[in-house]
Amino acid sequence: MILRRTLSRSIVLTLFFMLFFSAAFKATGEDRAIGYSIDIPVLMYHGFTEEAEGGSFTMPIALFERQMEYLAKAGFTSVTPDDLAAASKGERPLPEKAVMITFDDWDPSHYELAVPVLDRLGLIGVFFVITNLVDEAQTARLREIAARGHVIGSHTVNHFRLTNKVCLGSSSVCCHDYSPCSDEEIKRELAESRQTLEQTLGTPVTALAWPWNYYNKRSVEIAREAGYRTVFAATVGKTERLDYIYRIGCSSVGDEFEKDLRERRHCTDSGLRKGERALSNLRSDFEKALTKAREPR
Ligand SMILES: [Zn+2]
Repeated sequence: MILRRTLSRSIVLTLFFMLFFSAAFKATGEDRAIGYSIDIPVLMYHGFTEEAEGGSFTMPIALFERQMEYLAKAGFTSVTPDDLAAASKGERPLPEKAVMITFDDWDPSHYELAVPVLDRLGLIGVFFVITNLVDEAQTARLREIAARGHVIGSHTVNHFRLTNKVCLGSSSVCCHDYSPCSDEEIKRELAESRQTLEQTLGTPVTALAWPWNYYNKRSVEIAREAGYRTVFAATVGKTERLDYIYRIGCSSVGDEFEKDLRERRHCTDSGLRKGERALSNLRSDFEKALTKAREPR
């Protein structure tokens, strides 16, 4: 009698779990069709400084070095966007402790300060590049780090805010009338930057990061049409799809750092928390750089 009751209870439980998990599989779409979680911590960095104090979107390189040393010592393996795409399709599994280390805007400090740290520790970086800001010297640097296994992705041609009504400035073709970019303009920003980088590097470019973190359903569709396999936001959350990969900014160190990674939370005490204020500071720098890039040489 007791045995029968236990059996029927386990049958009910099994049915419940089968129903629950089949619903979960349907809900998460094709990227998780095999049930493999693609939710790994993806770190996002901007600029670095040799000073002891960082600023908005600038981290002391010594702190970055401590974080990377922690990752290496704690047994993390850095993976690439294509590793993530392959794992989500069941082609090859990710390492047990996978992390992705990404950098936006291709700041000179990436090559000068961050890449040597990554190389020393055998870690791979993913660098999102604004193609209009890359001159010949920068191109040579990109080729050099790509040859060493680092990954180059697109951060569009001009770093426009693609989907909102706030204008980046008068140099923006998308925002001359304070309207967001049209579909055609978004397509150009995504397709042209990809093409430029592929021609420059001679390898496929399959990853994209949104400038200013402005994106919507339509821009994500256009990114897919333009051939991107993975698309990165600067939003915190649980990643379930390859075209909505969330990233975290972190300035904690040690065990606390690992806890922050596990919980996928922004843990920076400067920069990202300041949000819009930091972005508006950066805006004028981009304005200057873009104007300079467009000057006839
Ligand atoms: Zn950016």
